[in-house]
Amino acid sequence: MPETTVKSFAEQIGVAPDKLLQQLVAAGIAGKKSSDPLSDDEKMALLNFLRTHHGAGEPEAKRITLTQKSTSKIMQNSRFGQSRAVQVEVRKKRTFVKRPVPDEPEAPPAEAEAIVEPVAERVAEPEAPPTTVTPPEPVEAEEPVAEVPVSEPVPPPVVEPPVAQEPPQNRTVRKDTRPERGRNERRERPAARPPGAGDRKPHKGRPGGAPQRGASAGKRVVTSMSGQHAFEMPTERVVRDVYLPEAITVAELAQQMSIKAVEVIKVLMQLGMMVTINQVLDRETATIVVEELGHVAHEARSHDPEAALKVGDQEEGAREPRPPVVTVMGHVDHGKTSLLDYIRKTKVASGEAGGITQHIGAYHVEMPKGMLTFLDTPGHEAFTAMRARGAKVTDIVILVVAADDGVMPQTVEAIHHAREAGVPIVVAVNKIDKPQADMERVKQELVTHEVVPEEWGGSDIFVPVSAKTGQGIENLLDAVLLQAELLELTAVRNTMASGIVIEARLDKGRGPVATILVQEGTLRKGDVILAGRESGRVRAMTDEIGRSIKEAGPSIPVEVQGLSGVPNAGDEVSGVENERKAREIALFRQGKYKDVKLQRQQASKLSNMFQQMQEGDVKTLTLIVKADVQGSVEALTEALEKLSTEEVKVRVVHGMVGGISESDVNLAVASNAIIIGFNVRADGGARRLIDSEGVDIHYYNVIYDAVNEVKAAMAGMLKPQFREDVVGSAEIREVFRTSKAGVVAGCQVSEGVIRRGRQARVLRDNVVIYNGEIESLRRFRDDVSEVKAGMECGLTFKNYSDIRAGDQVEVYERVEVARTL
Ligand code: GDP
Repeated sequence: MPETTVKSFAEQIGVAPDKLLQQLVAAGIAGKKSSDPLSDDEKMALLNFLRTHHGAGEPEAKRITLTQKSTSKIMQNSRFGQSRAVQVEVRKKRTFVKRPVPDEPEAPPAEAEAIVEPVAERVAEPEAPPTTVTPPEPVEAEEPVAEVPVSEPVPPPVVEPPVAQEPPQNRTVRKDTRPERGRNERRERPAARPPGAGDRKPHKGRPGGAPQRGASAGKRVVTSMSGQHAFEMPTERVVRDVYLPEAITVAELAQQMSIKAVEVIKVLMQLGMMVTINQVLDRETATIVVEELGHVAHEARSHDPEAALKVGDQEEGAREPRPPVVTVMGHVDHGKTSLLDYIRKTKVASGEAGGITQHIGAYHVEMPKGMLTFLDTPGHEAFTAMRARGAKVTDIVILVVAADDGVMPQTVEAIHHAREAGVPIVVAVNKIDKPQADMERVKQELVTHEVVPEEWGGSDIFVPVSAKTGQGIENLLDAVLLQAELLELTAVRNTMASGIVIEARLDKGRGPVATILVQEGTLRKGDVILAGRESGRVRAMTDEIGRSIKEAGPSIPVEVQGLSGVPNAGDEVSGVENERKAREIALFRQGKYKDVKLQRQQASKLSNMFQQMQEGDVKTLTLIVKADVQGSVEALTEALEKLSTEEVKVRVVHGMVGGISESDVNLAVASNAIIIGFNVRADGGARRLIDSEGVDIHYYNVIYDAVNEVKAAMAGMLKPQFREDVVGSAEIREVFRTSKAGVVAGCQVSEGVIRRGRQARVLRDNVVIYNGEIESLRRFRDDVSEVKAGMECGLTFKNYSDIRAGDQVEVYERVEVARTL
């Protein structure tokens, strides 16, 4: 015992501290407070005082003391049944005597402790029925004698401390142990639960958490109600451990708890949520439901075989420099393909055996200064599509700009896409062999897009080349290697391989064939790999010229055979210990991909902007602006970026004239952006991608509206608003001029219904050229009010006649919608 204070000593001997202080004063030890230390000498002084003070009765007092001592002895030997019985007697006596206080100190201090300890020991000893147990600190206030409370419960062998009485396994039911609950406790729980106790598991501060009773309370109530059956009940109520993925449907959730979906719907209704059976719930909501129903919710982590994969991933191994991976981008016809072809033809070792390079989606070249790998699918579309799938493959972009043509729209797009991905650009000014080539013009034009040559104080490398003659190509490759050096690209070579699927196809003879870019580790023939949702053993592995190879290290592309199916470009590849594990993970992923998509669909919507901002999730509102004319792109970009506040930066990552393309949507996915279409529409491919990826897109035809809505979204004040629902669309096949009706559009209705008198737009190349109303509608010679999909019709627009074959007609309705916020 470290230091004895007056208070602790009083506790040891079972005297109220005040009383002890009085006795100390009487013994000549004055001025003590209960928190003051008490030395052995002082204790002895007190003891002597008390002895002499009791004076006359000394012998008697001694006897009492003896009794006391024997008691303590017996207690220590309490493992022998008989001694225990004696002890009980003594204690009772003590409570009546009520004056053992002076005696207590007689025992040397050390022994006083010894008395207490065995008692404590006994508490835990359940097989000591006749003895009643003294809680170690039963003293509570004035009672000078520790044992007072004990005397009463002596007869029945009751286990004393009623509050802390839980038998060991009961601990599993305790509400406050949720985080530490081990998995194996699960089996105990049903048994440990009080029979028929409230079937709700107590939860912290959740709505509807009223029956937060201790297990025992619940037990008592129910037992008395259910009479003699009480103890048979545990089998009925099973507390389940429910493992929740990030998203789960109401039906799946119900199934996991082995209850009807209606039960789940009911609980959610009580919580104020109306849901359908197929509705997807996020994990948090699902957790509330699970707890509300008395089960225990866990994150689905432990079911996630990928967790194991991740652990394996983090294998040690020294990082070594690795070759850069390059994508070629630029405007159409500026020479991307020619450049890639030239490099492949002249630089890829066309080995002795056969020696014809084949297209496998990527190739690597060895230069005196180092190795570099080219992705053989040029253009920002492929680049961003890859990124949209979460794959980061490219280290450096070669931007090809034809010296005779200069910066063109796709040049600018390529810059935006590369910048947004944070990938450095090396500019190849191509077609330098042509007489019209104008290097300076290219530089100047690129500067306006913030690609600045080094000699003008920037950091971008410009290399004049000709993909036709090969002039400058070596310099270009050197420049790329130089840029790569700055990036300090490294990888671990000595570990299980991981990488990305560059492309994949089903080969008639060979089955699924995939080009894999190894990013880390070394891929070997015979390895078991997982590629997205497919798995398999690498049966054969070839390089870009069709040679069979045994292994491939970081940044090396290889074609592999042996996968169970055709993976997607952009899928992650990882080496796995065995095929069973690979299959398991592949299966798990099949479920997970669904979830990921769902999650994405919740993300980056203008309508939940504010909420996400509040939660601190959004620091930058990323936008893509597509508009009909350059003036609108600029005006919108400026106005929108001006909305930036201290908390949230508004950034237009891509602003461009033209309809919304697939590559815009991919960029939106890759950079979590919202698309603003101003007098432009998404084309068919883009629309499909928008739907499947859940990208948020907003159309406007007044700049003020666009700016105001974004502003409102940032302030969390989106007002109920009119939405334009397209009810039908048609393609103009022919244009006639009639004397009566003027210019008539001969149309084929492609979707929905075209109605007379409705609002309509005319689109040319996905750009809105007219916004008005359908004035007349005819089918053959009859005026009709509507024409359905698949039919032909003739129509005219109110006050508008500048139409052409190929234009699209969109008929829409304005619908008032309440915003979700
Ligand atoms: P891509 O659309 O960017 O892939 O461009 P291509 O590689 O298909 O090239 C378009 C056209 O430009 C082709 O006719 C090429 O032969 C030509 N071309 C490409 N590079 C050069 C070059 O350096 N010099 C000349 N004179 N023509 C080139």
